[in-house]
Amino acid sequence: MGRLQKILIPFLGLVLAFWFYSARDTFKPEMLRGKRVIVTGASTGIGEQIAYHLARMGSHILITARTEAKLQNVVQRCLELGAASARFVSGTMEDTAFAQHVVREAQTWLGGLDMLILNHVGASYFGFFDGDVEHVRKLLEINFLSYVAMTTSALPMLKESEGSIVVVSSMAGKVGFPFTVPYSATKFALDGFFSSLRQEFAIQSINVSITLCILGFIDTERAVRAAAEVLRERPAPRDECALEILKGAALRRRELYYRYSSTRLPLLLRDCAAELLDYLVRSRYRLPAPPGA
Ligand code: NAP
Repeated sequence: MGRLQKILIPFLGLVLAFWFYSARDTFKPEMLRGKRVIVTGASTGIGEQIAYHLARMGSHILITARTEAKLQNVVQRCLELGAASARFVSGTMEDTAFAQHVVREAQTWLGGLDMLILNHVGASYFGFFDGDVEHVRKLLEINFLSYVAMTTSALPMLKESEGSIVVVSSMAGKVGFPFTVPYSATKFALDGFFSSLRQEFAIQSINVSITLCILGFIDTERAVRAAAEVLRERPAPRDECALEILKGAALRRRELYYRYSSTRLPLLLRDCAAELLDYLVRSRYRLPAPPGA
C-alpha cells in the first residue's frame, strides 16, 4: 500500500499539472471579442494582418502608422471582416507627442484599453554599420522611445482593465546579427526595458501582462525586399505569424517565439555555446567572397 501511494501520488500530481497547464494553454478567438486594442504599424506587414485577425474575432481596433490612404483601406477591410469598431490615427512615431496622442484617442473613442500592440518599425539599411550616429538616434526614437511613451501613457487604462502589452521584437533583439546593427540595438533595448518593467509589475502586483515576441524571418514586403537575396532561409507567412502573436498575447505569455525552430531552438545554445550560435547566425547569409579569394 505504502509503495502504491509513493507511485500514485506523484503520478496524480503529474496528471493534474498536465491538465492545469494544457487547460491554461487553450486559445479561443472569443478571448478577444469586444476587447479594445491599439495596433501600431498596421498599414502593412504583420501589423495589418494582426488587425484583420482581431477584426474576425470581433475586437474594437484603433490602428496607426504614417500612410493615411493605406490605413483607410485597412480600416475598411476590418469593418468588412466583422470588427466591433475600427478607426485610425495617422502620424509618425519619431514624435513622442504623437505616440501619446494615439493613446489619448483610444481613451476618447474606446473609453479604455485592453491591449496595446507595439509593432511599428522605422526604415533602416541592410549592410555593414556605416557609423551614422544620427541614424541610430532616430531609429531609437521610432523603435524604442515611442514604445516607452505609449506604454507610459496607456498604463493607467491597462491597469484598470488588467490588460496586456505586446512588444513585437526579433531574433536580432536576442542575439547579435550582422548587417542590421542599428535595428538590432533598438530591439535589444526593448528587451531590457520591458523585461525589467515586468519584474516591477510583479513586485507591485500590477496585473498587466507583457508579451515579448521574438520573430524570425517573415514574408512582409519590406523584409523580403531587404533580405530575401542574402538569407538562405525561407520566410514564414505573415498571417500565421500575426495569429501566433495574438494567441501569445491572449494567453498572457511572457515571450512568444515564431517560428520556434528558427528562434527558440537556436537560442538554447546562447549560454552554453555562444560562439557556435554566432557561427550559425552568420551561416544564414550568402556572403560575398572576401577580396582576393
Ligand atoms: P513593415 O511591413 O515594414 O511595416 C512597418 C509598419 O510600421 C508599417 O505599418 C509602417 O507604416 C509603420 N512605420 C514605419 N515607420 C514609421 C514611423 N516613423 N512612424 C509610425 N509608423 C511607422 O514591417 P514588418 O515586417 O511587418 O515588421 C513588423 C514588426 O515585426 C517590426 O517590429 C519588426 O521589427 C518585427 N519583425 C519583422 C520581421 C520580418 O522578417 N518581417 C522579423 C523580425 C521582427 P508607414 O510606412 O505607413 O508609416
